Amino acid sequence: MIAPGSITEVLSRADILEIVGQFVRLKRRGANHIANCPFHSEKTPSFYVSGAKGIYKCFGCGKGGNVVTFVQEHEKLSYPEAIRWLADYYKITLEETERSPEQIQAQQSEESLRILNEFAAHYFHDAMLKTEEGQAIGLSYFKQRGFRKDILERFLLGYNPEDGSSFYKEATSKGYNADLLEKAGLVKNRNGQHYDSYRGRVIFPIQSMTGRVLGFGARILKSNDKAPKYINTPENELYIKSRVLYGMYQSRQAISKQNECFLVEGYTDVISLHQGGVENVVASSGTSLTEDQLRIIAQLTKNLTILYDG
Ligand SMILES: [Zn+2]
Repeated sequence: MIAPGSITEVLSRADILEIVGQFVRLKRRGANHIANCPFHSEKTPSFYVSGAKGIYKCFGCGKGGNVVTFVQEHEKLSYPEAIRWLADYYKITLEETERSPEQIQAQQSEESLRILNEFAAHYFHDAMLKTEEGQAIGLSYFKQRGFRKDILERFLLGYNPEDGSSFYKEATSKGYNADLLEKAGLVKNRNGQHYDSYRGRVIFPIQSMTGRVLGFGARILKSNDKAPKYINTPENELYIKSRVLYGMYQSRQAISKQNECFLVEGYTDVISLHQGGVENVVASSGTSLTEDQLRIIAQLTKNLTILYDG
């Protein structure tokens, strides 16, 4: 169970205009904001949100409530799930009561992986933009593909330096231990020697719906190499391949607003389409579409178009 203090913290942080604004385009009208209702189909707005009162009400279909009700209704979640969703959005760590030792350990492990992945994504991003090697190899690869600066930022693209253990050294100097680095798939251990799993590769962070970094895809740049073209994070508490859709964080608003989702194969397909202004697109990243992935998309739209080129 979530501790009452944590629920209070989530409720005090959650801003209804910000959260509703994730899903619909709000327009100011007097003291309120209005939008086309996300819960029924309409041409003229009858969906009202009061930021001051923290409530929403639709005068068309009658739905109404507070920020938690909205997340429950929109994402089809139970009350505790909606609290967890909001906590995730605001990066609030929830305290739990009455948990088994296994649950406590699993959550600590998940939380450590989240923090480490966040650190790693920013390390790779900076290594690409701010080091000579990163600019010459990683950044130039993305530039050759025509990706704009704002797109590199939006998808937090990065580069892992080639020398073997730059990331490992930086991460351990910041206090991350080798076991966690290995579990996250970021570092490999060969006879006690640690080296970066993604050295010399460009990095695609894979984010949750709320922007948390769950794992990484890493693409090789040298065409003559025998190594696999892409390496992905191994399955762990955080990265569960069958539930991940690349681009969901960047695309969810557009999918919801346009009530349509395009499914493509690869990371770069998602990014290219975004750059071209098509923002309602996700990738299943090589796997065939799973039931979990379908369920995630169905929360936002029932209209799915598959665009595979194979
Ligand atoms: Zn309505």
